[in-house]
Amino acid sequence: MRAIVVSAFGGSSVLDYTEAPDPVPGPGEVLVDVAAAGVNYIDVYHREGRYPMPLPLVPGSEGAGTVAQVGPGVADVVVGDAVGWVSVPGAYAEKVVIPADKAIPLPPGVRPEQAATVLLQGLTAHYLTTSTHPVRPGDTVLVHAAAGGMGLLLTQMAKLHGARVIGTVSTPEKEKMAREAGADEVIGYDDFATRVRGLVPDGVDAVYDGVGAATFDGSLASVRPRGLLAVYGAASGPVPPFDLQRLNQAGSVFLTRPSLGPYMATREELLGRASDVLGWLASGQLHVHVFARLPLAEAARAHDDLEGRKTMGKLLLIP
Ligand code: NDP
Repeated sequence: MRAIVVSAFGGSSVLDYTEAPDPVPGPGEVLVDVAAAGVNYIDVYHREGRYPMPLPLVPGSEGAGTVAQVGPGVADVVVGDAVGWVSVPGAYAEKVVIPADKAIPLPPGVRPEQAATVLLQGLTAHYLTTSTHPVRPGDTVLVHAAAGGMGLLLTQMAKLHGARVIGTVSTPEKEKMAREAGADEVIGYDDFATRVRGLVPDGVDAVYDGVGAATFDGSLASVRPRGLLAVYGAASGPVPPFDLQRLNQAGSVFLTRPSLGPYMATREELLGRASDVLGWLASGQLHVHVFARLPLAEAARAHDDLEGRKTMGKLLLIP
């Protein structure tokens, strides 16, 4: 099969489009013909070695396609099923093997390519807005990079739950996109905490911060006493070591650094969240802006655009 293979960690040039052995499903696994792979920031961290993975690595943490073969002992997934998956490496390829218990059955009306636009970021935005900080009507939340893949979904889900959303963005084009997704106020990054306090003098109920190092101090300064700061990513780099006393000074603020794994700890939880996300997509309550749909061979360009802050919404790779 053709695949993107990383043989040494590094910049986007290590994403090599080449021949790779066809994967074979073992016990409890299924082989999937990949219809589309979603591009996510975590793929950049994997490529760089920031989250070390064994090499050689076929990156790609999310995709969807059609089951082509099932391994021994698989009962509830059959050849021909349309499935999606998240947090299994190897989606940047024509074929991938995934554990059968990670296969997310796609509901009627959701094509594999559509599912690949929304699963990883959608499940993440789902847990952030329903579990990390269950958003309630009347809440005000701050969403950084509001026109990004995560940001557009967080904005829409926070609005679905009745919140007022303040978004940060870096360009007027992104501002327009964030407003179309439902953001009530959209601001730039310069001195954003002062702007937030101008809009909400007591501070916001929750901050969703996937930018990390560059925004952390302002995010902490934007939260109300006893509010929550969820630093769920590090697009600008990781947050340096932190003095806990600052949470006290900020008014007993809660700080968390969540990730998807513990929020889809059981198959029931995974399928419950996926059912909400894919259901909202099918009913039109959730929209995904597909920024680009690139051939798999152009994975390096996809990473350059994502890291270069050129994208809005979702990037897809098509094998
Ligand atoms: P995005 O589409 O949001 O792209 C990143 C955006 O971050 C950019 O478009 C840019 O928007 C903003 N940004 C601000 N500063 C920088 C910088 N220095 N370099 C690059 N980008 C910057 O990516 P994703 O939606 O894929 O991911 C967003 C974040 O969510 C990532 O940190 C990712 O790791 C995290 N994530 C975490 C998960 C979890 O469970 N913890 C799961 C999924 C994603 P602008 O120009 O408007 O500032």
